Amino acid sequence: MWCDGGLALCTVCGLAEGELTTECPGMKTSEDQRRRIYSVGDLDFRDGKWVDEPNPTNQSWDYARKACPHLYENQTPLPDP
Ligand SMILES: [Zn+2]
Repeated sequence: MWCDGGLALCTVCGLAEGELTTECPGMKTSEDQRRRIYSVGDLDFRDGKWVDEPNPTNQSWDYARKACPHLYENQTPLPDP
């Protein structure tokens, strides 16, 4: 379900904006995973697996936008700066 409150949300993994990992995990994420990705900042998903490392999308929404293909499908792509 797409949230129409202006928040970009991936409908596959359930991650939104600053929570997004380097790669989309391709599965529903748990509340604990989202907390670690976003609030704690010590979890990321890349190269097909979860890693205990900070994810760069925490810092850059522009990066997150490119990182998640599902997200891309669900919103109008922004023009390149
Ligand atoms: Zn996703």
